[in-house]
Amino acid sequence: MRKILVVGAGQSGLQLALGLQQHGYEVTLMSNRTADEIRSGRVMSTQCMFHTALQHERDLQLNFWESQAPRIEGLGVSVAGPESQRVVDWVGKLNGHAQSVDQRVKMAGWMETFAQRGGQLVIHGAAVSDLDYFSRTYDLVLVSAGKGELVSMFQRDASRSPFTQPQRALAVAYVHGLGPRPEHPEFDAVRCNLVPGVGELFIMPTYTLSGRADILFWEGVPGGPLDVFQGVKDPSEHLALTLELMERFTPWEYARATNVELTDAGGTLSGRYAPTVRNPIGRLPGGGSVLGVADVVVANDPITGQGSNSASKCAAAYLASIVEHGDKPFDEEWMQATFDRYWETAQHVTKWTNAMLTPPPEHVLNLIGAAGQLQPVADRIANGFNDPADFENFWFDPEKAGGYLASVSG
Ligand SMILES: Cc1cc2nc3c(=O)[nH]c(=O)nc-3n(C[C@H](O)[C@H](O)[C@H](O)COP(=O)(O)OP(=O)(O)OC[C@H]3O[C@@H](n4cnc5c(N)ncnc54)[C@H](O)[C@@H]3O)c2cc1C
Repeated sequence: MRKILVVGAGQSGLQLALGLQQHGYEVTLMSNRTADEIRSGRVMSTQCMFHTALQHERDLQLNFWESQAPRIEGLGVSVAGPESQRVVDWVGKLNGHAQSVDQRVKMAGWMETFAQRGGQLVIHGAAVSDLDYFSRTYDLVLVSAGKGELVSMFQRDASRSPFTQPQRALAVAYVHGLGPRPEHPEFDAVRCNLVPGVGELFIMPTYTLSGRADILFWEGVPGGPLDVFQGVKDPSEHLALTLELMERFTPWEYARATNVELTDAGGTLSGRYAPTVRNPIGRLPGGGSVLGVADVVVANDPITGQGSNSASKCAAAYLASIVEHGDKPFDEEWMQATFDRYWETAQHVTKWTNAMLTPPPEHVLNLIGAAGQLQPVADRIANGFNDPADFENFWFDPEKAGGYLASVSG
């Protein structure tokens, strides 16, 4: 059977490795950490995944935590006014539910499943020199190592990467004890709080090592008042800072956060990165080629919560391309075509996400405002998180936005 090496055990690498294993391939998975190290380490994401991405996991029977994780049935948006009051506030209903399962739980669990099913798991931080060797001994090498050092093998695609610097400073805290949302507490929702010129606060329920919890996630414009987490090492100091900023900029969310405590000592994360699209083919010094997967090739800012969704969609698209290719060689032509198939969906995610990082034009402000009065608009925006291609129809172009609003206003 064909031999495939997957380097990196995150959302995309594990989903691909487990999927290939189910199709009878001989799969080696290389991870720089053991399952226990992942489980006892730091949180890595907020990983809210919407219907289509979750369905790819269900298709492979990998939805192990679906019954335990909170079902996220809505997506709410609030916009802060100059006096820190809410000038816009609405909740859109999702057609299919979303879920967030702490990647520490999911990746550790999936990794153990892969090994239990007979997969070869190698604990090793791969270097370019290793890949040089492996590209000669495997039929295909897939690099799914996220935003780590191996990305240096893949050339940045400047035509698809408008930013050279990080556009947001990120700060995440997993907590227990958050009170319910005052509006529609009967169902769970992601809350997106936009503070113009300052940044965004996202709040969402998750399933973590200690059960149900909530995530408080600040995205701050670099150099602005939210960009204060760099160098904060103490998790309780990180949480105190998170709450202080909530009290100042989003008091309506702070009101339900006065009794929160961190889920665990690894429950905080801060950092930043520049959104980057890369050439999907990595060329090795010895002449071999490897194919980049998910964040390695398309890393968007988490402002739209798409990276894990895209990783799942990328894994599903690559799996289909590999299986359909049968016994033919995995040459560069095939690699490029495989990436191009994924880019069909990823391009919409990238365009929308990059647009959300810049101040919104008037027609977008009109759409966000109108969603407060017109439920179909709120629902359509919420469901765009599942299928960002739909934004092409009403979000970017002022005429299309105006036409859409006129059609729903009736
Ligand atoms: C703060 C934050 C919030 C986010 N929120 C969301 C959200 O709500 N929704 C969403 O969809 N996405 C979100 N994302 C994005 C999402 O987490 C990532 O896009 C997704 O995890 C990418 O999956 P991946 O498989 O490409 O890489 P990763 O999940 O990063 O996995 C890569 C793996 O490779 C390993 N590795 C690295 N180098 C090597 C090496 N040399 N050898 C072996 N192994 C290696 C790493 O340890 C890691 O386990 C968020 C990201 C951040 C930072």
